[in-house]
This record gives sequence, C-alpha cells and structure tokens, in this order.
Amino acid sequence: MTNPDRLRYLRVELAKRKLDGVLVTNPVNIGYMSGFSGSTAYVLVTGSEALLITDPRYTLRAKEEAPGFEIILAQGSGGYPEALKSLFTERPRLKTVAFEAGNMTVALYERLRKDVPDSVSWTATENLVEDLRLVKDAAEIAAIEAAIRLAQDAFREIKPQIKPGISERSVALILDHTMRMRGADEPAFETIVASGPLGARPHHTPSERLLQSGDLVTIDWGARLRGYCSDITRTLAIGGPYALGDEQRKIYEIVKEAQARAIAAMAPGKTGKDIDDVAREYIASQGYGDAFSHSLGHSLGRAVHDGPGLSFRSDKVILQPGMVMTVEPGIYVEGVGGVRIEEDVLISDYGCRVMTNLNRDLEFMG
Ligand code: ZN
Ligand code: ZN
Repeated sequence: MTNPDRLRYLRVELAKRKLDGVLVTNPVNIGYMSGFSGSTAYVLVTGSEALLITDPRYTLRAKEEAPGFEIILAQGSGGYPEALKSLFTERPRLKTVAFEAGNMTVALYERLRKDVPDSVSWTATENLVEDLRLVKDAAEIAAIEAAIRLAQDAFREIKPQIKPGISERSVALILDHTMRMRGADEPAFETIVASGPLGARPHHTPSERLLQSGDLVTIDWGARLRGYCSDITRTLAIGGPYALGDEQRKIYEIVKEAQARAIAAMAPGKTGKDIDDVAREYIASQGYGDAFSHSLGHSLGRAVHDGPGLSFRSDKVILQPGMVMTVEPGIYVEGVGGVRIEEDVLISDYGCRVMTNLNRDLEFMG
C-alpha cells in the first residue's frame, strides 16, 4: 500500500466513524502515514487534507520525505500551540476530531483542549492506524526481509565467539555492535542473552554471568533497518553433546516441534488464537503447559510489537496475506534453564512463508 492508499483507507475509516479528522501523534504512525522520520511532528488527516505539522529544524526533511503532505511549520515564540490553534481556527468545519488514545498523555490532552478552539470536540480512537499497519505491502515486506538478513548475518558472524567463558553481556554487546557495523539503524530492542539457570527468565537482562559447559543459552535479538524490524531467537547448548542433561534436550525438542506445528497451521482465515492453541496444546501434552508462560507471537513491522498477534486472547485477530508474525514458543524451567526459538513468518495467499532461515536444530558450542 502506497502512502496515497493509506490516506484513502484512513478517510474511509473516518467517514465510517463520522469523524472530520484524526490527529496522529504516535511517531510510528506518523512515519507510516506520511513517510516523515523526524522525532517531533503531528499529522492531521481530514476528508480532503493531509497536513504535517513540524518545526523549522525539519523543513527540508519533511518536504523530501512527505511529498503528499502540506507542511505546516510551528515557528516563532508560539511554537506548536500557536500552529495548532491557527490551523483549527482556519478550518471551522473540523468539529469532531479523533486523537490516538494509546499515545496521548494527560498533559498533551489538556494542552490540546487549551490551544484548539472549543468548537472542536475530541474523540478517543484506538488502533485506527495500527490496524492498517498489520498488513504489509511489498516494499514493507522487502524491508523486513532486509532487517532479517542483516540480523542473521550478524549472528552467523559472531556465533563462533559464543562459548564457555564469555559473559552474557559480552555476547549482547558484540551482537549489537556487529549489527550496527553491518548497517542497522540500531538494535530493534534490547538484546536478550539468558544462560543456564538465568534462562528460566524469558526477559532476562544480560548479566556478567560467564557461559559454561552444560548451559542452554537463549539469545533474542533483532535489527532495525530503514525503519523496519526483525526479531529472532535461538537457543544454543554450551559445551559438547555430553555436557547437556536429558531434560534440557527434551525441552528443546518439544519447543522445536511446537513451533513447527504452529507454522504448519498458519494460513489466511485462521485466528491468532487458533495458532497459539496448536503450540500451547502440544507443549501441554508433553507435560510443560505451565512452563510456556507467554503468548506465541506478535505482529512485526515498524515496531517490534507491531500489533496483536498469536495469543490466547487473539480470537478476533484473523490472519491475512501480508501479515508478518513472530512464532516464538518457549519452555522455562527453574533450575534447568530455558528454551525459546523464534521465527518471523509472512502469511501468504494460501499458507505462510518462514522469512528467517537460521539453523533450527540444537547446536553445541564447545
Ligand atoms: Zn524476540
Ligand atoms: Zn518476538
């Protein structure tokens, strides 16, 4: 979907809800709707206009990146309040205007009520742009693929260094550094390296703990590249094949099988809950139901958590071609460690395509 298509879609949604316009304040949604990548701006979309309100620092960038938008500069001592005030005063037909409830602080709301004429009544909306973002166009899919390729290449490059004696924190730093050296805007989120008993915490922050023979180590990382994210997890075994206990091997194979079953079930028309159920029921059937303590996956795109995904709550999320979902079952056992394997999966016309392609079999790092 090109930017004009996105505007058209948003206008249809506005008309359905009897709204005269929407003030977009979430920076991710601003970038998605207009192309503008600066950090301070508002977007106002009405039935006939598309406005980008920003300040003189961004004049050139706004013109370059958001060609379909009329640029309104908040300048002088009045700044943004003055710009918003005159914008709405000049457009008295804008009476019912939506704001993004998920990205509106009380302070900003109070300010809008003060700065904007009383003739405007504000209506909270949720997920107006987010729902549109769920289905990716060809350019977005290519961007996610590039972010995946970069993250995978970085991982392959540093993998030989993941062995007994290196700290969790060092692994995370080397991986982040390597992604940046390869051109990533930044790591898409704080890289997780969780080893040995610490692996039983799904969102562990990398510590000074040194990897040792007999550990399972879970590494969860991703790159942001040209505004789009990848998100991958691998669990490696430290030491030779004999260093690992039976239960560690067992939970690895269960997670791998749960993931394979979930991916095999992914197709347009299924709900997010249908897919979560497949993985959850398999893990439960193997006796580890309580040890899979998070949802199966999330939508991936401009944000790492780009919208609702695969979870027991997602019975209203219907998979459609163009959606990109992570599939990341995990098992976490106190005293034994944790396993998580995460792929990025594109829903296709009749099924799905796994976009990530790192080895999924258990690897021993001696
Ligand atoms: Zn992840
Ligand atoms: Zn994820």
